Amino acid sequence: MEKMQRQLEKLVEKNRHWCDQGNTATYIPELSKQDPGMLGVSIFDTQGRQWHAGDWQMPFTIQSLSKVAFFICMLVDNSFDVLTRKISVAPSADGFNSIVNLETKNEKRPLNPMINSGAIAGITLVRGATMEEKFLRIFTMLGKMTGNDELSVNQNVYQSEKEFGDRNRSLAYFMKSTGIIDGDVDSLLDVYFRLCSIEVVCADIARMAAVLAFDGRAPWSGETLFDIKTARIVKAVMTTCGMYDGSGDFAVDVGLPGKSGVGGGIMAVSPRNLGICVFGPALDQRGNSLAGWKLLQCLSEELDLSIFSTCKP
Ligand code: GLN
Repeated sequence: MEKMQRQLEKLVEKNRHWCDQGNTATYIPELSKQDPGMLGVSIFDTQGRQWHAGDWQMPFTIQSLSKVAFFICMLVDNSFDVLTRKISVAPSADGFNSIVNLETKNEKRPLNPMINSGAIAGITLVRGATMEEKFLRIFTMLGKMTGNDELSVNQNVYQSEKEFGDRNRSLAYFMKSTGIIDGDVDSLLDVYFRLCSIEVVCADIARMAAVLAFDGRAPWSGETLFDIKTARIVKAVMTTCGMYDGSGDFAVDVGLPGKSGVGGGIMAVSPRNLGICVFGPALDQRGNSLAGWKLLQCLSEELDLSIFSTCKP
């Protein structure tokens, strides 16, 4: 326990200098106000133990980490066949908000639910007679997975996302024109923007990752939140698509199912073992936390966490 604690503190200090090499997201102006020098980490294991270091208590917005909960709700509320008729689970070699593939690839379906187009289209598949019910369905899943029943939307980030969300509007209108979605685009995007603007700390996201590590059960209560098959599919798609066009590099460097958000968070899942969250708002070119990635790479090497490693005891 003490050893792990010291190890994490050392890893934060060792990797903090990477913060200087990245930039906070500017296309959502409110996010550019974050201090780029922050770096924190939280870990929960499947037995309920926890470790934290660095700026782990600093609030940040969940951003695309919430897409993991979107995808879980989509899977629970639909058969896999129905779901993949609308959204495939193919990796993308383009950025998370790319529009080009909707026209040129994949019979107009969004490539996967971890990029913006797939997440926005996916909301329409989540159970709920109204957009508000769909919001609550995903929000409730996030509350259960984080073990935090006091989650709330950061209003400044939400307003900023809404004001500067024209790329997401473009994606949604394009998908409406090709019949992937129907109905009112504004209310659909309002759900999306709110679910990206939920404020969390590292510990919340590490608990969320621990639920996936524990195959859909909450380690702190034993409650089953979704079934093992759903957990398996989500971890597979996180591995191939969770870091967008950086997913291949992340598989090599870290070797864990991962998901990033432009707020600076990255969640990583060590199956049957650990839920991990790192937070560092200075991002690389692809929108992934730079120092967070490097910290995870060191952690994975030191603890031999890669799922592709052949030398497990
Ligand atoms: N809210 C952000 C957006 O829509 C989420 C993107 C991200 O975290 N990668 O662009």
